[in-house]
Amino acid sequence: MRTLTGVGSTPLSGVGAARWYRPEAALTLPDRPDPSAVDADAELARFESARDEAREAIRDARDRAAERVGEEEAAVFDAHEQFLDDPELVGDVGDAIGDGTPAGHAVNDRFAAAIERFEGLDGPMAERADDLRDVRDRLLRALLEVDSVVGLGDLPDGTVLLAERLTPSDTAELDPDAVAGIATVSGGRTAHAAIIARSLSIPAVVGVGEPLREVEDGDDLLVDGAAGRVVVDPDPEACAAAAGTEATAVTERVATADGRPVEVAANVGSEAELPAAADRGADGIGLFRTEFLFIDRDSRPSEDEQYEAVAAALSTFPDDRVVVRTLDVGGDKRVPYLDLPDETNPFLGRRGIRLSLDEHRDLFETQLRAVLRAAASGGGADSTGGEGLAVMFPLVSRVEEVEAAVAAVESVAADLDAEGVDHAIPELGAMIETPAAAFLADRLAERLDFLSVGTNDLAQYVMAADRENDGVADYHDPLHPAVLRAIDRTTSAAAGADAWVGMCGEMAGDPALTELLVGLGLDELSMSAVTVPAVKERVRAVDTEEARALADEALACDARSEVGDLLGIDGA
Ligand code: PEP
Ligand code: MG
Repeated sequence: MRTLTGVGSTPLSGVGAARWYRPEAALTLPDRPDPSAVDADAELARFESARDEAREAIRDARDRAAERVGEEEAAVFDAHEQFLDDPELVGDVGDAIGDGTPAGHAVNDRFAAAIERFEGLDGPMAERADDLRDVRDRLLRALLEVDSVVGLGDLPDGTVLLAERLTPSDTAELDPDAVAGIATVSGGRTAHAAIIARSLSIPAVVGVGEPLREVEDGDDLLVDGAAGRVVVDPDPEACAAAAGTEATAVTERVATADGRPVEVAANVGSEAELPAAADRGADGIGLFRTEFLFIDRDSRPSEDEQYEAVAAALSTFPDDRVVVRTLDVGGDKRVPYLDLPDETNPFLGRRGIRLSLDEHRDLFETQLRAVLRAAASGGGADSTGGEGLAVMFPLVSRVEEVEAAVAAVESVAADLDAEGVDHAIPELGAMIETPAAAFLADRLAERLDFLSVGTNDLAQYVMAADRENDGVADYHDPLHPAVLRAIDRTTSAAAGADAWVGMCGEMAGDPALTELLVGLGLDELSMSAVTVPAVKERVRAVDTEEARALADEALACDARSEVGDLLGIDGA
C-alpha cells in the first residue's frame, strides 16, 4: 500500500482500476514538410473545415453538459467557441499556413504560444490555458481525423481515470456510474474540470504531481477526495475507512445531540442541480444563484422563465425553504447584453444589489415579480417553520439598500395586486458579504427576516484578499479570527433581532467546521449538495454548549494558525 497526496476536489471516495488517459498520444503530427511543398489554399480549407467540425463538437458538448450538470457549468463551452472565433488566434494560424506551414502544425504552434501566455498569468486566468488546450485538441482531432475523445463516455465500470490534467470537455463526457474516481498530475480545485467533476459527484483528487506517473494501468486505487489522497494497492481497512467517512443521505431534518435544530441546505446554480440536492437529503435550498438564467445568452430572461425556475425549486422542496438570491452580476460575472462598465477594481465596483437598485432596476423588478408570483405557488413566507420561499439581496453594504429593496418588493406586490395577479411576499434577507454589512448587521436584521453569511466574499473583503488570486490564497481564509469575529457579530445581531441566520459560503460545507459554526450560532448551513450528508452527520454529534465554548476560544485567537490548532486542522 502506497499513499500519494494531492488536493481533494470532490469530497467522496471511490475504489477501482487505474486507467491512464493520454489523448495527446493520438494527436502526434507527421514531420513538417518543406514549406514549398505545402498547398496553402488546401491547408486553409482544411483548417476552416476543422473549425466547423470543432464548433459542432463544442456545441454538442455544451448541450450535454447543460443537461447533465447545469447551465452554469456548461457556459465554459461558450468560452471555447469564442476561442475558435478569436480573430488574433485564427489570424495567426491563417498567416502561418500562408507562410507554408501545414494546418496541424500551424494550430499546434500558435495555440502553444497562447497557452504559454495564459500559463504565465495568476489565478483562474492560468486555468484558461486548459480551455485553450481543449480547443486545440479538438482542432487537431478534426485535422488528423482521430475519433472524438476516445472512449471516455463508455469506460468500464470501476475505472479510476488518471490523466496529466483533464479538460472540461473530457470531464463532461464521463459517465459518473462507471467512473469510480479521477486523479490528475496537475490542475487545481477551481478549474472548470474540477467543478464539473464535483457536480457529477465523481470522487476526485487533483494536483498529485510526479508520483502519480508511477501508477500503471490496472493498478488498484483508492481515490479519497475528502482526505486529498490516492492510495495504490489499498488494503480493505483503508477502503472501508474511506468509505466510512462518506455519510449516507439523511432525508429528515437534523438537530444537535442536545436538540437544537440546524437546517442543512444545498446551494444550486441551476434547475438541473435540484434533483441531486434532493437525493442527498438537503433541507431545501439555502442559495439559488439566479445568475445562470442571465449569463450565457444574448438577451434577458422573461418574467415567466424566471417564474418557472423558482417554481421548479419550490416543487422539488415542497416542505422546505428555498432561498433565491436576486441577480448577483458584475465583478467577474459579465453579462454581455447588460453593458456593464469596465472598472479597475470590479470586485469593489458596481455589482450585486448596487446594479439592481440603479441602472438595472427594471431587471430587478421583473425578477421580483417572478419571485412573488412563485411565492404564491409555494406557500409564501413562514419564518418559523423553514418552508416556503425566501429572497435575499447580494453584496449589501448600506441600510438604505435594504430599505430600497424592501420598498421595491412592496411596490411590486402593490402592482400585482392592482393587476389581480396571484402572489405572496416571501421572507426577505440580506447576504452578509462585506465588512459594512457585518458592522451593520443589527440594523439590517431589524428590517429583515434573515441574514445569510457569504464567506467567499466576506473573507475577500475583510482580509483585502482577492478570492481568485492564488498569490493571496492564505489571506483569503474564513478561519482567520477577523472573519470569525465578523461572523459572530452577524449571528449575535440576528439573535438580538429575532431573525434567523444562515451561511451559504463554501465554509458552510466543510464538516470539520460544523461544530464551530453551530457554536457561532448559525441556524442554517447551505453548501454543495455533495457535502450535505457529512455535515448532517456532524450536526447530530454536536453539543451546543461545548460548541459555544469552542467558538469563544476560536474568537479569542490572535492568528489563523491558532484556530487551526484548536480545531486540529492544517492551513495557513
Ligand atoms: C459568497 O460570497 O460567499 C457567496 C455565497 O456568493 P458567491 O460565491 O456567489 O459570490
Ligand atoms: Mg458572494
